[in-house]
Amino acid sequence: MNYHSTRGKDRGISFDNVLLTGLARDGGLFLPEQWPTFSKADLITLIGLPYHQLAIRVMEPFLNGTICESDFIDIVTETYAEFDHIAVAPLKQLGNNDWLLELFHGPTLSFKDYALQLLGRLFDYFLIKRCQRVTIVGATSGDTGSASIEACKNRTSINVIIIHPKGRISEVQRRQMTTVIASNIHNIALDGTFDDCQDIVKAMLNDQMFREQLHLSVVNSINWTRIMAQIVYYFAAGLALGAPHVPISFAVPTGNFGNVYAAFVARRMGLPISQLIVGSNSNDILTRFFETGKMSINAVIPTLSPSMDIQISSNFERYLFYLFNEDGKRVLDFMMKFRQERQFEVSEITKTTISNLFQGYRLSDKETIEIMYKLYQETGELIDPHSAIGVAAGRRANRCSKITPMIALATAHAAKFPDVVEVATGVRPILPKRLNDLFNLHEQYEVLPNDLEIVKDYVKQVSEVKI
Ligand SMILES: *Cc1c(COP(=O)(O)O)cnc(C)c1O
Repeated sequence: MNYHSTRGKDRGISFDNVLLTGLARDGGLFLPEQWPTFSKADLITLIGLPYHQLAIRVMEPFLNGTICESDFIDIVTETYAEFDHIAVAPLKQLGNNDWLLELFHGPTLSFKDYALQLLGRLFDYFLIKRCQRVTIVGATSGDTGSASIEACKNRTSINVIIIHPKGRISEVQRRQMTTVIASNIHNIALDGTFDDCQDIVKAMLNDQMFREQLHLSVVNSINWTRIMAQIVYYFAAGLALGAPHVPISFAVPTGNFGNVYAAFVARRMGLPISQLIVGSNSNDILTRFFETGKMSINAVIPTLSPSMDIQISSNFERYLFYLFNEDGKRVLDFMMKFRQERQFEVSEITKTTISNLFQGYRLSDKETIEIMYKLYQETGELIDPHSAIGVAAGRRANRCSKITPMIALATAHAAKFPDVVEVATGVRPILPKRLNDLFNLHEQYEVLPNDLEIVKDYVKQVSEVKI
């Protein structure tokens, strides 16, 4: 199976090229040309498998022979052996049919590790085979940066440069990036906002000559391989709670629509998912869309859940491709129009299709704090503000069956956001053992002004360093 673009021009692209290029040349996102499916009998054979074996079975159909089976088995096994819970993505019961899927057992304590740990290894595997090196540049508002750094440190084929807005991320988040001392890891603290960081990364990537000379690449959330790795934990949770014999539902705190899109793919592959509940903070573009069928862009508002402070959910284009019966030309026209008019509206029929599966709920910061407190009172669990939004959305949902399990995704560990958790519950969460010495380690980073040329000079200088 090969890949095609949501905007219709690129097709027949192999898995390794999809992995290494990220974005299609026509500006679209890559998706498989056919979807692998698991029948009920197939799903039954997956019940009870250890996480890494399930991961191999679920992801293998997407590789189309670009990587030999025994290498892939080794890579996946090694990836999830790094996680500090034997179940990798364990479930915790919060209420009668109310569950929490803990996705913070990777090295940097957010769900992004589940995909990026695999991505780093796959990048290295294909680059070494091709005798190539890349320089990955990325802007981060917190979790993506540390997950990328941890996934790529000491890999000989990859140089990593991560730009964060100086003084605007939590100390835990900063230290998770700046205390990784490796010759291929470079942190920039930019005197500016997250948007400034993102603009600089975009400007570097849009400079074709600079991009080619330095072999620049990105591992952002539009990379198909990240979605592919995230599909696995939906299968793991569903099978653990009775699928395929009974349906399950998920509640997902959402920013870029990447994580919840992976749930949609799992459903397409045969997992009986009944409802998908999307939780947002005050940056509620998706919730408004699910309510009204209209999507329009507002300014970004900073909230207590910064990893969801996003105005455009870039992965939504993949779902749009499905809604438009995989007509790339229609998606292209639509996206062009959206870019010009900054809004769009779907037809009544499409709206019904969407609302049969999706519902959206928004939480203010105050409501986020309230649910964190309430959950702590009820169960003794400390959850981070992003996960809290998922739990609250799942509880508010208009459920089509009371007996269908509602599984909320815990996307980060409470100790990543200790100040908010302490305000909400009175308890300061402690870091897991593996991060015990985070506050004693030496930090290394470069403070740079918000100036494209100065950042480019720095990137040039560090990417010419031979490892
Ligand atoms: C990135 C992130 C999200 C949002 O995920 P999307 O795939 O962008 O929807 C939610 N919670 C946490 C903790 C994150 O790091």
